[in-house]
Amino acid sequence: MRAVLVTAFGTPPELTQTPDPACPPDGVVVAVEATGLCRSDWHGWMGHDDDIELPHVPGHELAGTIVETGVAVTRWAVGDRVTTPFVLACGRCRACARGDGQVCLDQLQPGFTQWGSFADLVALPRADVNLVRVPDEVPAEIAASLGCRFATAYRAVAHVARVQPGETVVVHGCGGVGLSAVMVAVALGAQVLAVDPDPTSLGLAEQLGAVRAPDDLTDSDADVSIDAYGSPANLAAGLASLRPRGRHVQVGLLVGSDASPPVDVGRVLGQELQLLGSHGMPASDYPELLARVADGSLDPGRLLRDRIGLAEAGPRLAALGEPGAGAGGITVIRPDVR
Ligand SMILES: [Zn+2]
Ligand SMILES: [Zn+2]
Repeated sequence: MRAVLVTAFGTPPELTQTPDPACPPDGVVVAVEATGLCRSDWHGWMGHDDDIELPHVPGHELAGTIVETGVAVTRWAVGDRVTTPFVLACGRCRACARGDGQVCLDQLQPGFTQWGSFADLVALPRADVNLVRVPDEVPAEIAASLGCRFATAYRAVAHVARVQPGETVVVHGCGGVGLSAVMVAVALGAQVLAVDPDPTSLGLAEQLGAVRAPDDLTDSDADVSIDAYGSPANLAAGLASLRPRGRHVQVGLLVGSDASPPVDVGRVLGQELQLLGSHGMPASDYPELLARVADGSLDPGRLLRDRIGLAEAGPRLAALGEPGAGAGGITVIRPDVR
C-alpha cells in the first residue's frame, strides 16, 4: 500500500510504498475513503506525543470500507462502511464500564499509538467495541470529520458544556473543531461569539451564525467558553469572559511548556466557575450525532475546505505550523485523488 511515512519528527513525511497492514484478531483492515488533516496530526509529527514511535503513519479521523476482518470479530463484515472515534477504547476498564470510552484507561489511538490512516489501508483493533456504521447517504468526507473534530466539538458543546437555548457561548479558535463547535452551539439555540485572529476563519464562523466577539471579553457575561485551539491565553480569556457559575471547556491540546498554564483559581472558586475537559466522543454517542447529520440539523459538509491526495498530505501537514494554515475549514485527504 501507499502510506505517508514520518521517519524523523519535524521533517516533511513522504509518500512511500509499505507492506499492507496485518489484520488484528479483534480488528479489521479498512480501505481508507477519506481522512482528515487535523492539528493533532501536526502535534504528533512535531514530536509532542510520547506514544509515537518512528517510522510512523499519521491520521486519526477516517472513514472507509472494511476489506478484512479478524477471527474474533463478530459485529462487522467485509464491505461495511465505517468510521471510528480516534480513541479505540478497551471495553473492559472502569471508564469503559461507565460508558466513558473516550477516556478509556487502556486506550489505543490510530495515528498515535499505532499507524494511522494517511494511507490506502489502516488496521483498526478492537473493532467490535469501537467501530461506527456509516449510513450510505453520509459521504466519506463528512464521516471522517466525525472521527475527531466534529464529534469532539459535538461532545464538548452538547454533552460536556450542556449548552442550553439562549445561552451565550464564546468559541476561541475557529479552525475545524472551533467551526464545528460554532455550528453545534448555534443549532442548540445559543448565541455564539467567535474569536480568531484570521479574518477568513472569522468570516466562516459568521456564516455559520456566530458574531465576532468584542476585543475585550471580560464583560461578555458568557455562560460557556470553549478553547478549540489550545493556548494558555485562550484559557485565561475564556475564564475571564464567564459570568458566575459559567463553564469553560478545554478542547484544544495544550502541549510542551503550555501544558500546565496558570489558572485564576481564586476566580474559579469565588465565582463557582467550572473548568472542564473534553476528549473525543465515545462510540455509544455516535447514533445521536449521525441522526442529526442525517436529518440535516447539523451539516458538517459546510466545514469542508478542500480535498487533496496522499501525495499532498505530507507537505500540507508540515505547513500546519505556519500562521493561518488551519484557517478556512477542514482539509480532507482522499487516497483516490491522484
Ligand atoms: Zn483530530
Ligand atoms: Zn477502557
